[in-house]
Amino acid sequence: MPSEFDIIRQYFTPTSISQKRDDVVLGIGDDAAILDVSEHHQQHQLVQSVDTLVAGVHFPIETSPQDIAYKALAVNLSDMAAMGAEPAWFTLAITLPDADEKWLKDFSESLSALAKKYRVQLIGGDTTHGPLCISITINGFVPTGKALTRHKAQLTDKIYVSGTIGDAALALAAWQGQCLLREESIDYLQQRLNRPKPQIDLGLLLSEYASSCIDISDGLIADLKHITDSSDVGATIYFENIPLSKEFNLNLTDDILITSLVLSGGDDYELCFTIPSAKQADFEKEINEKYILVTCIGEIESKPGVRCIKDDKEIDIQGIGYQHFTDI
Ligand code: ADP
Ligand code: MG
Repeated sequence: MPSEFDIIRQYFTPTSISQKRDDVVLGIGDDAAILDVSEHHQQHQLVQSVDTLVAGVHFPIETSPQDIAYKALAVNLSDMAAMGAEPAWFTLAITLPDADEKWLKDFSESLSALAKKYRVQLIGGDTTHGPLCISITINGFVPTGKALTRHKAQLTDKIYVSGTIGDAALALAAWQGQCLLREESIDYLQQRLNRPKPQIDLGLLLSEYASSCIDISDGLIADLKHITDSSDVGATIYFENIPLSKEFNLNLTDDILITSLVLSGGDDYELCFTIPSAKQADFEKEINEKYILVTCIGEIESKPGVRCIKDDKEIDIQGIGYQHFTDI
């Protein structure tokens, strides 16, 4: 049975696990990490975020270690994307029910692959014994004053989302037995739930254009409402404009289920953001040149709250959206 120190050395050491960055003076192994911020100082601000995944709450207990590791880091990278930040370093606080070496190997290999892809370095953490829980703190940089926030959406701004919406919720609904999936849809949808793609490049590009931004973790309406509430405005979106993958047509006929998955399903980790009308043309030109999929779904207005129009009628959206502590 490996000790806590064996686990750290074997599965979470910097050389094996992540990108080696020049700005890490001292990584894992001492009481704390030392990071060189002098290069970034003055031109940049440090952006920090933490996200915790609890087994049985944020992922089903039987989720593979590869998927757990991927998602734990991906949701943190997504927070960096939503701030328009370039991610740099992360720490990992992991609580393990036992020291299962196969599990640890699979977990650390998957974490490592994603860390290398996004050039982020694991610089420390904590390893404890108890029910499975993974908490990652991530740090990144934005050029000073350029961070994207939730509180600066303005009247007449256009509301956009990246990618397609609702796929992760559809995968979860199928897993919970609310619907059946065609065989050929399963892989794609499970990837969408377990392996969200952090929209870092889009976030960096949005710093030049967007007035506000959030990543969609709790559901489109709930997350857009964070923007409108923080900005003291309201919004109307049009259901027919929301980009859906072909999986919705292929797998679902129940209109109420479709509406609820698209509007209130979480876990997509796409970006929802607002673009001032005056910048819309330039923004769309650049986005088209770079082949990034974004779709305009509505507009910011003065009436508080978020409304969704479908078939020319307002949908009753009261009570949709996942909230910890109230829904469980
Ligand atoms: P301390 O006793 O000072 O809290 P620890 O024994 O918890 O130190 O950790 C020793 C070193 O290993 C520290 O540098 C810490 O950041 C790192 N570490 C511990 N657990 C992890 C982990 N899960 N992932 C990455 N680094 C870790
Ligand atoms: Mg410690």
